[in-house]
Amino acid sequence: TAVATEEPIKPSVQVEHTQLLIDGKFVDAASGKTFQTVDPRTGEVIANVAEGNSEDVDRAVAAARTAFDHGPWPKMTAYERQRILLRAADLIEKHNDEIAALETWDNGKPYEQSANVEIPMLVRLIRYYAGWADKIHGLTVQADGPHHVQTLHEPIGVAGQIIPWNFPLLMFAWKVGPALACGNTIVLKTAEQTPLSALYAAKLFHEAGLPPGVLNVVSGFGPTAGAALASHMDVDKLAFTGSTDTGKVVLELAAKSNLKPVTLELGGKSPFIVCEDADVDQAVELAHFALFFNQGQCCCAGSRTFVHESVYDEFVEKAKARALKRSVGDPFKGGIEQGPQIDSDQFEKILRYIRSGVENGATLETGGDRHGNKGYYIQPTVFSNVKDGMAIAKEEIFGPVQTILKFKDLGEVVQRANNTRYGLAAGVFTQNIDTANSLTRALRVGTVWINCFDTFDAAIPFGGYKMSGQGREKGEYSLKNYLQVKAVVTSLKNPAW
Ligand code: ADP
Repeated sequence: TAVATEEPIKPSVQVEHTQLLIDGKFVDAASGKTFQTVDPRTGEVIANVAEGNSEDVDRAVAAARTAFDHGPWPKMTAYERQRILLRAADLIEKHNDEIAALETWDNGKPYEQSANVEIPMLVRLIRYYAGWADKIHGLTVQADGPHHVQTLHEPIGVAGQIIPWNFPLLMFAWKVGPALACGNTIVLKTAEQTPLSALYAAKLFHEAGLPPGVLNVVSGFGPTAGAALASHMDVDKLAFTGSTDTGKVVLELAAKSNLKPVTLELGGKSPFIVCEDADVDQAVELAHFALFFNQGQCCCAGSRTFVHESVYDEFVEKAKARALKRSVGDPFKGGIEQGPQIDSDQFEKILRYIRSGVENGATLETGGDRHGNKGYYIQPTVFSNVKDGMAIAKEEIFGPVQTILKFKDLGEVVQRANNTRYGLAAGVFTQNIDTANSLTRALRVGTVWINCFDTFDAAIPFGGYKMSGQGREKGEYSLKNYLQVKAVVTSLKNPAW
């Protein structure tokens, strides 16, 4: 049933905003240039979008600087900021379905996922950070000597934020939520594949009362607009989500310019460990979700499925059956689990990895090719007999390709799971509390999901060990990315009183 060959369903939304959002106004790029954003279902152009370059980044940073140094935002009461964030969340909730349609059109993810999960998560996250806005405060510190000592927690200034295409709006929310709650101003660069939804959401923040210049959105490419932001002398903090290779580039640009602090959320090759006590049916379902969710385009995808030898054969058989049942097709259609990959580059890259798996001797259980004959759809693919040294077991595929590896004992699987340059997340599937606790402590990763996966509440911190990143987003932890600490030391004349 190659749904992808049918006529694509028309999205129930118009593209309203394609310009850059600078200083509260939609404007063309200084160069007048535009680029095409494409519908991954067909490869056809959705819209021509203003292409920001370094001149536009300069304009946006100047607006953010003025809004920070002179504007009302950091000087407003925390309560006023909180109320604007809450109003923005209400407006986004009100426009849930249009925003979801835009997200699915530009990105290809199932509409049901956008409308019922991701836009509600965005709203929840903005409300969560609105809740923090008036609860940020410093400490009183005991010091030696006759001094009264306090710390002030102040916004850091102009935040540069660069986001990827796999969760355009959730990445927008993870970045702008804490930055705004702390009183910073922002220049955000969206991914060139998915510029549309953030422009819509940012406009709603302005309708909610956000002053001009506080949240500027620049569409454009990485080596031009992105690099200009990372190396800008007047940007006080950089937050980046994307590949590990690009993370290295932006960290270097930040260091070479003004040493702005950088948080990085990068790639992964996360293990999903199925222990011998597993209920195989449940383990298959969760491992399937851990890998195939979002077309496999998750930095934390459970992309190395380690299965204990006692349940391995049964697991492989059932994982294959589950992948064969996965519904692939037009993401606007109800009941669809998997839409197209984001673009032709990713589509080709995933097919290359599949070929390398076959060439290196892994067993292709199912899938392995494109789905349909139009757009960037790929068949849900399962490899068994995967060995640690194969490229498909070491590198980030970022597609619907499950790789299943066999293990004998827990000490061995810990060593193999940790034998990677990444350390973003891990899944552990067991009923044995000692196994769960021991594995949790031994795994060198930023998140361990036990008998669950991809649980992303606003309050749960997320980030990587090793080359998966620096710093944490979400939760209380992310506030410190956007705050400076000022120590205030006052001499006491009469310390003995
Ligand atoms: P992917 O390969 O998945 O597209 P990237 O890390 O290249 O991941 O992209 C993530 C974000 O980083 C995008 O917004 C992209 O435009 C941006 N980007 C890419 N290259 C650079 C660069 N040299 N400097 C700054 N940003 C970049």
